[in-house]
Formats: sequence, structure tokens, C-alpha cells
Amino acid sequence: MKKILSHLEPKTVFEQFEQICQIPHGSYNTKALADYCEGVALNNNCPCLRDGAGNLIITIPASPGHEAAEAIILQGHLDMVCEKSSQSTHDFKNDPLSLQVNGDFISANQTTLGADDGIGIAMCLALMADHSIVHPKLYCVFTTEEEVGMDGAYALDLSSLSDVHQMINLDSEDEGQVTVGCAGGARVACTFPLHRVKAKGLQATITVSGLAGGHSGDMINKFGFNANILMGKILAAISKEIDISISHLSGGTKDNAIPQTAQAELLIGPDERESLDLLVNKLQNTYKNIAAPMDQNLSFTIQYGKTKQVEVLGPDSEELVIFALGIAPNGVQAMNRSGKDVVDTSLNLGIVQMERSALVIIFNVRSTNNDSRDFLCEQLTAFSDFLGGSSKTTGQYPAWPKRNNSQLVRTLNTVYRKLFDHDLNIVTIHGGLECSLFAAALPDLDIVSIGPDNLDIHTPNEHMSISSVNRTWQFLLEILKTLA
Ligand SMILES: [Zn+2]
Repeated sequence: MKKILSHLEPKTVFEQFEQICQIPHGSYNTKALADYCEGVALNNNCPCLRDGAGNLIITIPASPGHEAAEAIILQGHLDMVCEKSSQSTHDFKNDPLSLQVNGDFISANQTTLGADDGIGIAMCLALMADHSIVHPKLYCVFTTEEEVGMDGAYALDLSSLSDVHQMINLDSEDEGQVTVGCAGGARVACTFPLHRVKAKGLQATITVSGLAGGHSGDMINKFGFNANILMGKILAAISKEIDISISHLSGGTKDNAIPQTAQAELLIGPDERESLDLLVNKLQNTYKNIAAPMDQNLSFTIQYGKTKQVEVLGPDSEELVIFALGIAPNGVQAMNRSGKDVVDTSLNLGIVQMERSALVIIFNVRSTNNDSRDFLCEQLTAFSDFLGGSSKTTGQYPAWPKRNNSQLVRTLNTVYRKLFDHDLNIVTIHGGLECSLFAAALPDLDIVSIGPDNLDIHTPNEHMSISSVNRTWQFLLEILKTLA
């Protein structure tokens, strides 16, 4: 293996990170990486436990003379999101990542880098391997399947850690920031039965594209457009003017990503082509006028096919679909009462799927308040019940409530100020973190989350700042020394 990162500082961290990148470790495929971590632990006399979900709890004994200090949990996740560019031939099951260094940034050639959360794991492995570092007793908890619903963290039995009172999660992506709370969430799938009839007409496919999209936890407060919602508006508007029949609808791929594209396959009368062109073009201009700057590339296009007989939705089903998409709640529902610019409760209509006899629309719900989350899930249940559908709520996870008077936050801030001469930015986020599940299981646990600058995560453009890793590592070492 040709080493690409061996000249970088901090050497021990980048050595471990490069090893991790050699081992494929997408969600549901973390056994080999867990084996590697266990090997590093055992080589360094650190006891390692693995549970049935593949999670690891590795104990690093306190450095000599610091046995009396309170233990700390360091936490990260083993799995990474596997995304690649359309040209990439990368095989995430078998190929090592192809690392590249460009100025201050590390990335992987046309794939996600998996620094989310490979860098958190690498820092913990570097702590195991370097016996000169001063620290209290450390429990490194590495979870599986964080990126696909936090299955590992759900399965964790934390009873053996019930007398630990402090935890540093290493799964954040902004240097200079400490996260002290996050929203909880759930996924709600609403299903509406459809019936179909045969009809003949000119095939017309309307596509909504060019939207900025983004992660629904990070970007919902930017008030960008949601392609599924826009498609609902388009269908409602054109169905008032033109006799359309819907044969298929689709939009979005993940409930937690704001959809950038949506498609509707229609039949129209052959002589209505011109009217449809005019109408859709007018709608495009209207929505461009009210779009946020990031959505200025929005585009509504129509592609025409043949005049054909196909199965389309019957009139009742068509009315139901247009109505459901037209009134579906979406976006920010409440801002935080603190007066700060923080979203309290939101939802994202992430996925629209149409099967032959059902429409499925899937929402991702988030709230910093578990009751508000549940109320919104109930609203979606009422919405689908009223329209003759059904709903299923899954993947509920609790909010991680901000702690008043956190000793750990005070310590971090003091250390940060000493090292970098300014204050840490203390934030609560609208995204989800595994900290929620630790906070729910161990209510006395004082938790913070930190990490180096890692950009465009979950995309093939993911790239991490080398100098930021170095500063974050210095910060972590100084925190551990202070708490030892
Ligand atoms: Zn992560």
C-alpha cells in the first residue's frame, strides 16, 4: 500500500485514518473495521468488548498516576455513507478508498471520504497506541449503522458505563464549535391506495430539477424548495386548466435529504401540448421569482413521448394524489422560543413513490422536544387517515436536551480559550446525533460533541481540513490532560 498521508501531522492520527480508509466500511459492512480496531486495542493491552450489533467498547486504562480521575467516554461510529460520482467505478464492498491530498484538504477520488466518522475512530485508535499521552481512564465506544438509523447505538447496553459522567462524541464537522444538544426525530410513511384505468393520450413527463436540496437537519432553516412539494403545486395548477391523467410520480431518494428532483409522467390531449408548455413555463418563472438564491437554477421541463394507451390513475385517485401533495405539511413548523435563530420542529417530505396500486410519501420529522415530534407524527397520521390512507411511524429517536450548567462545556471552553485565544461556539443542532440515545440511557451523562472541519459530508465531494484535524487533536489532548 502506497502511503499518501504519512507526511501529515498529527502523524499517529493520520496513520490510523489511512488504515481505516483501506478497509471498506459502509453501513452494514463494518465487521472488518471492528476487527482492525479490536486488534489495535488488544496490541495495546486495552480490553475490548463486542456486542451482537457489532458495537465495540474499548477500555484504555488511565495513564500512570491518573487512575483516580473520572473516566470519560469517547464516542464515534464505525460505518460511513457510501456515495460516488456517476463516473466512479469504485466498489464500496471491496476497494480501499483512493485518497488524495490537495492543499489543506484530504478527499477520496470521486467517493465519500468517510472522515464522518473515520477521523473520530482514528483519534481514539491513536490514543490507544500512544502511551505517552496523559489522560484519565477512557471508554471508546464505537457504534455501527449510525448513518442508517443509529441501529448500533439503539442496541448498545450502556449499563456497564452507568457510573461514567462525561462523554465526548467525535462526530461533529465544525472546528471551533461544541454541540451540546440536538433534535430528535422519526420517519413517517403515509400510504394511499390507488386505482387505475386505461386511457389514451400524449405522454408528457414533467421534471423539477436544479434545486439545492441538502440534509434536512442542516438545511431546513434555509427555506429552500422541496421538489416533491413543487411537483404538488405544479400538478394542482395545471389540472385546473388542462385535462391531465397521471401515470407515475416519483421524487427524492432519502427521507432526510431535501429532494432536488421530482418527476410526473402524464397523459394529455395531443392538442393541449402548447397550453401545457405555456403553463409550466409560467409556473417556472413564478417560482424562480420567489425562490431563495440557492434555488435560482430551478427548472421545470417537459419531455413529450408518443400517443399511447397506458394505465393512469382513475379520477378519484388522481384527485386524492393532487390534494395530498398539495396540502402535505413540509418545512419549518416552529422556531425555538429562545429567540436564537434555531429551528425547533420541522419535517421534510423526502420521498414520493408511486406503485401500481399505492402512493407512498415519506416524511422525516425533527424536533428538539419529544412531545412536539410526536404531535407532528400524529398530525401526519390524521392527514393520511382522513384521506383514506394509512401511516407508519418508525425510527423514533429522542432529542438530546441541552444541559444547563455543564461542567464539561466549561472545561472545553477554558481549554479552547487557552489554546486558541477565543471562545468556543456553543450550539444545539437540528440534525440527529447518537448523543441522544446516550443521554436517554444515561441521564447523568454530561455530553459534548466536537470534530474537525469536514465539508460536503455524505457526498463524493466530502473533504476534510488537515490543519483542522491537527488543531482538533491538540484540543482533545489538552481536554484529556485537564480532566486527568
Ligand atoms: Zn457521522
